[in-house]
Amino acid sequence: MTEKLLTKHFGTENLFRIDVYLKLNGYQSARKAVLEMMPEEILNEVKAANLRGRGGAGFPAGVKWAFIPKDVQKPKYLCVNADEGEPGTFKDRYIMNHNPHLLLEGIIIASFCVGINTAFIYIRGEYEMVAKRLEQAIAEAYANGFLGKKVFGSDFHLEVIVHRGAGAYICGEETALLESIEGKPGNPRLKPPFPASIGLFKCPTVVNNVETLSNMPFIIAFGAEKFRRLGLQNDGGTRIFSVSGKVKEPGIYELPTGISLREIIFNHAGGIQEGKRLKAVIPGGISAPILKADEIDIHMDFDLLIEAKSMLGSAAIIVIDEDTSILDVLKIITTFYSHESCGKCSPCRIGNSWIHKIVMRIKEGKGEKDDIENIIRLASNMVGKTLCPLGDAAGMAILTIMEKFMKEIESCIEN
Ligand code: SF4
Repeated sequence: MTEKLLTKHFGTENLFRIDVYLKLNGYQSARKAVLEMMPEEILNEVKAANLRGRGGAGFPAGVKWAFIPKDVQKPKYLCVNADEGEPGTFKDRYIMNHNPHLLLEGIIIASFCVGINTAFIYIRGEYEMVAKRLEQAIAEAYANGFLGKKVFGSDFHLEVIVHRGAGAYICGEETALLESIEGKPGNPRLKPPFPASIGLFKCPTVVNNVETLSNMPFIIAFGAEKFRRLGLQNDGGTRIFSVSGKVKEPGIYELPTGISLREIIFNHAGGIQEGKRLKAVIPGGISAPILKADEIDIHMDFDLLIEAKSMLGSAAIIVIDEDTSILDVLKIITTFYSHESCGKCSPCRIGNSWIHKIVMRIKEGKGEKDDIENIIRLASNMVGKTLCPLGDAAGMAILTIMEKFMKEIESCIEN
């Protein structure tokens, strides 16, 4: 039986209310961190837990916090990345909707550890109901003295602000997110400098994903060792996998890091609908290069998936069955990227829209001999040649489909 850290109380009625959350020992970890621990102690615990960021990049959370300079006169900020725009990913929505106080506890722990007095939760525009729920939870936390001046009666103060996005995928990229909070168009910045030194309003900034922060209460309550032992040595704890597509039981599954992809699809999500055969799987949101059916005996580990030329990303598993045309998969991916490219760099702006036009033409039965070569050339021109990872992700996702399903695409053109 897998230990649940984040979804443990999801069945509890009105869990989103602070009175219910407090009855389940809520806010004990944040209280312990603020009143009984030194920031350095918290940092060491989070580092020892080997918690890797759950947003996509997988950067160790403790190491990221340690990058924030200690002796600066400027304010420091925490920006919670709740943009969750990666197609196939819907786990953070569940956390914020069912258990918003868990996230708030994580925010208090992180902010106290790093010396932050203002935190923004940047939530995607489409999550209107979730934003309201968060605002209600924040108001309850202020009323109970867990936020605002003198958190838990200490000298520490913390303001938490919900900032709603306007529905652009690119604002999930950390520097575009910062631009958007500053009131500018959400275009990515050149890195370096990284947000840890020059972030929001040119101040040191931590950007953490919702799920990453929601793990903090467990780490503080039960210690790094227990957290680490639940998962992999280099990636402790559990992960919430969003499973969608042609499985019998789509949904979110909290499971140990490193579990095999086959086990998630066939043991937890019930296998393929209507007894069909599996054709392919996208293992980490549509930015992750596709895996064929015979490649799913792989552990859901950041490093192993990179070795397999894919990526774990946001752990959003999209399952494709034998009846689904790969051209339809390509159509969805290219529609998305051509729409969401912010337009700042040419290979991404032009490449994505041209590839999309070619794919649509093939779908209309007007494919031409050179189409495959042109798609490959345009996608190759994106990889490694753009300002932010969107161009790389789109290029790699398209190239992998072309490589692994070349015959099917050729036959679509010929027929
Ligand atoms: Fe914008 Fe695409 Fe360039 Fe990223 S890669 S900055 S999304 S144009």
